[in-house]
Amino acid sequence: MPENKPGKLVVVTGPAGVGKSTILRSVLETTGAQFSISATTRPPRPGERNHRDYHFIDVPTFEGMRDNGELLEWAKVFDNYYGTPAGPICEAIDAGRSVILDIDLQGARQVHAKCPQGVFVLILPPDHQTLVARLTGRGTEDEQQLKIRLAKAQQEIEAAQASGLYNHQIVNDDLQRAVRELVEIVTQGAPQQ
Ligand code: ADP
Ligand code: 5GP
Repeated sequence: MPENKPGKLVVVTGPAGVGKSTILRSVLETTGAQFSISATTRPPRPGERNHRDYHFIDVPTFEGMRDNGELLEWAKVFDNYYGTPAGPICEAIDAGRSVILDIDLQGARQVHAKCPQGVFVLILPPDHQTLVARLTGRGTEDEQQLKIRLAKAQQEIEAAQASGLYNHQIVNDDLQRAVRELVEIVTQGAPQQ
């Protein structure tokens, strides 16, 4: 019996407000890939649903998962914990389904160390002003959060580009084109979903 071809592991990183969630919504629908639902200690934003967008958990629960080795990677981002539950990823890949992770550079480094065969994609804004406009326009962060996220954005982009980790960079100027580029990356050489 030939073994199932494993699914693809695709790691997406980009600064807050660049459009990762927006792009991923279309890409997941088009490709049938599975979204890796992270655990986080940050509170849900309006419109976010528990166990769909994130597993929203408290700090002791997060620390328990981390200490029990249940997370493929974890990081503290903007003062909150974020981490990727390992179990669902292994199951999906073993079953031939591709999985997409939306995680920061700290997490991507950890995943790369464990799964160097993964595909790493950096999403970039066309320019800083566009990023400011998108994050402000989304209206989900207060003034203080906005400042912190925008101050980190350029630094994060430069660190990610310098890391040599990313196989692809996608500039999210035209949404449809950015979606097409990521669909191509996710489906190339992957088993049919
Ligand atoms: P992220 O998940 O990276 O933090 P979002 O997906 O929440 O970012 O996008 C931030 C805002 O930018 C949202 O209001 C979204 O509708 C908008 N947006 C995303 N991509 C584009 C695009 N290509 N053109 C214009 N607006 C966009
Ligand atoms: P947000 O709070 O805007 O949803 O996400 C903030 C940042 O945390 C983004 O850069 C996002 O990619 C990152 N992030 C989300 N989930 C995880 C995760 O499980 N692990 C890591 N390392 N980063 C994550």
